Amino acid sequence: MNTEIVYSKTFNRHDNPNHPENAKRTDVMMDALLNSDLRNHVKIIDPIILPEDSLLSVHDVEMVFQIKAMSKLTEAWVDPDTYVCRHDFDTARLAAGGMVQLCNDVSSGLIDNGFALVRPPGHHATKNRSMGFCLFNNVSVAAKELIKNGKRVLIFDSDVHHGNGTQDIFYDSEKVLYQSFHLSPHFPGTGAIDEIGTKKGEGYTVNAPLPHKTGEKTIQQMMDEIFKPIAKQFKPDIILVSSGYDTHYSDQLGGLHVGIDYFGEMIRQLQEIQPKIVLTIEGGYNLDIIGNCFLSQISRLCDKPMFFEDNVPSSIETPLVVKTLKENLKPYWDL
Ligand SMILES: [Zn+2]
Repeated sequence: MNTEIVYSKTFNRHDNPNHPENAKRTDVMMDALLNSDLRNHVKIIDPIILPEDSLLSVHDVEMVFQIKAMSKLTEAWVDPDTYVCRHDFDTARLAAGGMVQLCNDVSSGLIDNGFALVRPPGHHATKNRSMGFCLFNNVSVAAKELIKNGKRVLIFDSDVHHGNGTQDIFYDSEKVLYQSFHLSPHFPGTGAIDEIGTKKGEGYTVNAPLPHKTGEKTIQQMMDEIFKPIAKQFKPDIILVSSGYDTHYSDQLGGLHVGIDYFGEMIRQLQEIQPKIVLTIEGGYNLDIIGNCFLSQISRLCDKPMFFEDNVPSSIETPLVVKTLKENLKPYWDL
């Protein structure tokens, strides 16, 4: 496998040590990779900065200018959750640019797959608002570029929080299939089971809100009966994954019961639908485990599966969510 990791130390310019979304996160993940044998099976490349114009294909000009202006200050906050550091207009464009270049390289067949290990994260950033630790929506900027080139894109969001921004950006589009499972009720409050898209995009948004302590068994049932069957019918040219390790049971901002190995297992299953796959990191805040979650996924990308000891606590199973979602989506897909 020809696997690339896009990464730069420059992302550490976006940092606030008192905030859960801080520079230690990617430090820990990169250290885990460099200390593993997987290091010999991947190529680590520098990101290329996204031109300002490309942001405007996804975000309003006012929002882009707001972040640009705040980036001139030493420290600024868009809202009580979301900080902006000096130079963040460049740092955030470097994150989005890294995701775009990786997607283009996988899409064109130059490489097999990849992981954009970039910060700040993106999936909460809507068309007109930075929020939820996210400045610009990295995965959406990349998806826009791909659909401009005639590609059909599946965005699979496995973060514990709903990717409200990504959903917002593609809610009326049939070119992007957005699938998410997430904890509910939880931040940001969106992603209800009946949010399924609008206009041409009706049926192309799939939300599985899961109660506290829901575990892998229900998530796997969701994969088998909803996510994978719909993805197969959609026939994506490429799969983008908004990967959040806050789905792990030990995460301080989470509440679902996923173990480390399941992060790799989800990738294995998605590869069966479309091997052209690019992951990017969204959340995941337990510094003791996110390194191994990252390795679990990288190991699947380069086809050298790794497994980890992990004591997943007992979970509740919620088959009713699967049943209801299936009923809601039957008018659009053969389920
Ligand atoms: Zn999250």
